[in-house]
Amino acid sequence: MIKGFTRFLQSPGQRIKSLFGPQDAPAGSTGPRIIPRPEHPVSRQHFSDAALKVLYRLHNAGFQAFLVGGCIRDSLLGHMPKDFDVATDATPEQIRELFRNSRIIGRRFRIVHVRFGREVIEVTTFRGKPNDDHADHISQQSDEGLLLRDNVWGNIEEDALRRDFTVNALYYNIADFSIHDFADGVKDIEARTLRLIGDPATRYREDPVRMLRAVRFAAKLDFHLHPATEAPIHDAAPLLLQIPPARLFDEVLKLFMAGQGVETFRLLRHYGLFEMLFPEADEAMEELPWAERLVELALESTDRRIREERPVTPAFLFASLLWAPVQQRQAILEAEGMPPIPALQAASQQVVSRQLQHISIPKRFSLPMRDIWDLQQRLPLRRGKRVFQTREHPRFRAAYDFLLLREGAGEIAPGLGDWWTAFQQADEHEQRRLLGKVGADPAGSGQPRKRRRRRRKPRGPASDA
Ligand code: ATP
Ligand code: MG
Repeated sequence: MIKGFTRFLQSPGQRIKSLFGPQDAPAGSTGPRIIPRPEHPVSRQHFSDAALKVLYRLHNAGFQAFLVGGCIRDSLLGHMPKDFDVATDATPEQIRELFRNSRIIGRRFRIVHVRFGREVIEVTTFRGKPNDDHADHISQQSDEGLLLRDNVWGNIEEDALRRDFTVNALYYNIADFSIHDFADGVKDIEARTLRLIGDPATRYREDPVRMLRAVRFAAKLDFHLHPATEAPIHDAAPLLLQIPPARLFDEVLKLFMAGQGVETFRLLRHYGLFEMLFPEADEAMEELPWAERLVELALESTDRRIREERPVTPAFLFASLLWAPVQQRQAILEAEGMPPIPALQAASQQVVSRQLQHISIPKRFSLPMRDIWDLQQRLPLRRGKRVFQTREHPRFRAAYDFLLLREGAGEIAPGLGDWWTAFQQADEHEQRRLLGKVGADPAGSGQPRKRRRRRRKPRGPASDA
C-alpha cells in the first residue's frame, strides 16, 4: 500500500549497510542512524492533522519535535497509525503555554495531552537517565528496582534508551522528515522482532508492565520476542503483583480488546503472566475442562466483533474470565447447604472482591457482569410471564450470548440456547407453542412449579374458615 515500502523491506541488508556508513555512525559512536526522507516510506499523509499541527507549532517555536513510538512503527509496517505520540525538548510547562487546549497529566510519568475535538495527542518531554544525584525528587525507584517516577528531562538520545522496545524508539523528525533510529529498530522491524532496549531483566524490574506490552505487541504485530527479551519473563512475572490495579485494568483492556485477544490470551498463559492477572481463573482452568475454552470462545467473539466494527463490552469478557471460579465457589457453598440463588450471589461477591485486589473493575462493568451471571439462573425458567420478563431484561442479549458460550465450551449440555434462539425469532403464536412445549417437559419447567406447589401446602384452619 505504501509506495516504496516493499523495496525498503526487500533490500534491508543493502539499505542498512548504507545507513550504517561511517559518515552516519562512526565506530564507537552511539548516535542515531538517520534515514533521510527519500529512503523510508513514512509520509505526512499517514498522520492526522492534529498530530501535524502539534509538531509544527513546537517546531515553529524553536523546539525539537518528533513523532515516536507506535505511529512510526505501524507506518513502517504499512498499517495506518491509530494514535500519535510526540516527543520534544520543550518542558511540560512550555508545551502548556503553546497549546491552550492542553493539560498536564500523570505523576509517575508526566505528559501533556493536547486535545483536538475527540483526538488527543500525547506530548512527552525527552526523558534522561534516572538516578542522577540531582534528580531524587523527580525520579524514584523502589528497593526492587521498580521505577516509581520518571520525570528527569534529557536529550533525544537518552529518551530513546528509556523506551521499551527498539521498534518503539524510532523518531520521525518534522524538521526534515527523516527517521532517527537509535537502537536498530528498523532492523528489528524487518526481522519482526521485539527486543527490549538494555538489560531485559532490569527493564522488567523497572516496569513489569513491559512484559504485558511484549505479549500485546507480539500478538498485534505478529512479531516474535527476541530470546534475551523472552528469557526473564517467567521469573519476572510475579513482579506484576506490585502494579496498581487501576493501571492493570487499562492494560487488560488493551490486551483483550484490541482485536487479537485469542492470541494474546494464549501467550499470556504460555509465559505465566495470566495467572498474575487472574489467579483464580487460572487455577480454575487447571481443574475445569471447559473453563479455558469458555474464555477462548469469548475472545474469539470479541475479536470477530472488533473486525466487524461492532461494539464490544469489557463486562462480557470479565464475565467469561471469572465465571469458572464463581462456579467452583458456588458449588462449594451449595454443598454446604446454601440454595442456588444465594450461593451464586455470595460466590460472585467473593470472587469479584478477591479479583479487585489485582485488577480494578469499574462499577459500570462489574454491575452488568453480575447481571449476566444472575441471568444464567433465570434463563432455564421458561414458564409464563417470567419468560417475557427475562426477555425484556436490559442484559438479556449478553446473557443469552453467554449461555451459548457455556454450551459451546461444554460446561452445560446444549439445548437451552436453541430454545431461546427459537423464542426470540418466533411470532406470538409460535412463542405460545414453545412455552407449551416447556410445560410438557418437566426438565424445562424446573423450579417454579415446585415453588408453587410448596406455597399451597401450609393451608391451616384460618384459610378453611
Ligand atoms: P500503541 O499505541 O499502538 O498501543 P505504542 O507503542 O504507541 O503502541 P503507547 O502506550 O502509546 O504505545 O506508548 C508510546 C511510546 O511510549 C511507546 O512506543 C514507547 O516508546 C514508550 N513507552 C510506553 N510505555 C512504556 C513503558 N512502560 N516503558 C518504556 N517505554 C514506554
Ligand atoms: Mg501510541
